[in-house]
Amino acid sequence: MPAVVIDGKAISQKIREDVQRRTTILKEKSITPCLAVILAGEDPASISYVTAKEKALTEAGMTGRNIHLPADTAETKLLNLIAELNKDTSVHGILVQLPLPRHINEDKVITAIDPAKDVDGFHPVSVGNMVLGRPGFLPCTPHGVLVLLREIKHPLSGAHAVVVGRSNIVGKPLANLLTRRDVNATVTVCHTGTKDLVRHTLEADILIAAAGKPALITPEMVKPGAAVIDVGVNRVPDSSAKNGYRLCGDVENAVAEKAGYITPVPGGVGPMTIAMLMQNVVQAAEESKV
Ligand code: NAD
Repeated sequence: MPAVVIDGKAISQKIREDVQRRTTILKEKSITPCLAVILAGEDPASISYVTAKEKALTEAGMTGRNIHLPADTAETKLLNLIAELNKDTSVHGILVQLPLPRHINEDKVITAIDPAKDVDGFHPVSVGNMVLGRPGFLPCTPHGVLVLLREIKHPLSGAHAVVVGRSNIVGKPLANLLTRRDVNATVTVCHTGTKDLVRHTLEADILIAAAGKPALITPEMVKPGAAVIDVGVNRVPDSSAKNGYRLCGDVENAVAEKAGYITPVPGGVGPMTIAMLMQNVVQAAEESKV
């Protein structure tokens, strides 16, 4: 039986409706949640992500302050801008779209954001809070994956989850969240140094692909009935497509014949990432009035 396709769009819509409701309550108290989005350069994928975030902010009734800087912006200029936004009480969240131009130190920029406005959850304080299980902003993509898994009611406690990828924004935090006591999965993290990837993926009750490699996960690598979450978003050349490329994940389409659940790309994890971001922005605004 083919896999149940997890409708990330529908699940994210429920979260966005809740965000909208919370935004209305804040607006009645004259607080309009506001996210400052900083984009440096002209990377096409980054521009499309920023556009999607702005659209979601408007739909939720929140404000987006869109700051588009040239690719050759000096690091100090960006750091000064962040310092101003940190002080600005009408701004509740600050998001710097990654990747930044090569001459700018990403770590320095992320660390410059006030943790109270770190709605991406990338600041070392946010990461520390997450690891310690303290309240704080969770990174949007890993949090979205967790919500998807909960939503399909896939057994998590005692399940073996295999995460392919160890980046700071997806693989590492996801592995951490899955081992939380209230999730209780056993986690294996695979990466470019992993020998015999198939041996690990075949053991997975939950397989999460976050490598950024098209078709890395093939049906032979998947345990029958596993929940397969495809985080990958890859642009592959396609002359038949209007813009010359199409989007695909890290998981081959044929995996749907073997898995129990699967997320589509697009329409799986992507919409969840945006919904969790909106949730973090409204949370930042709610906490700002205290
Ligand atoms: P990254 O390049 O920073 O990290 C990729 C990780 O995959 C690395 O840790 C690497 O060790 C591992 N890896 C790469 N090739 C591998 C292989 N052959 N075998 C085993 N491990 C391998 O990427 P990232 O920022 O974590 O993003 C991963 C993917 O997820 C990308 O396609 C990105 O576009 C996508 N992404 C999607 C969303 C979303 O909202 N859907 C959000 C963030 C990232």
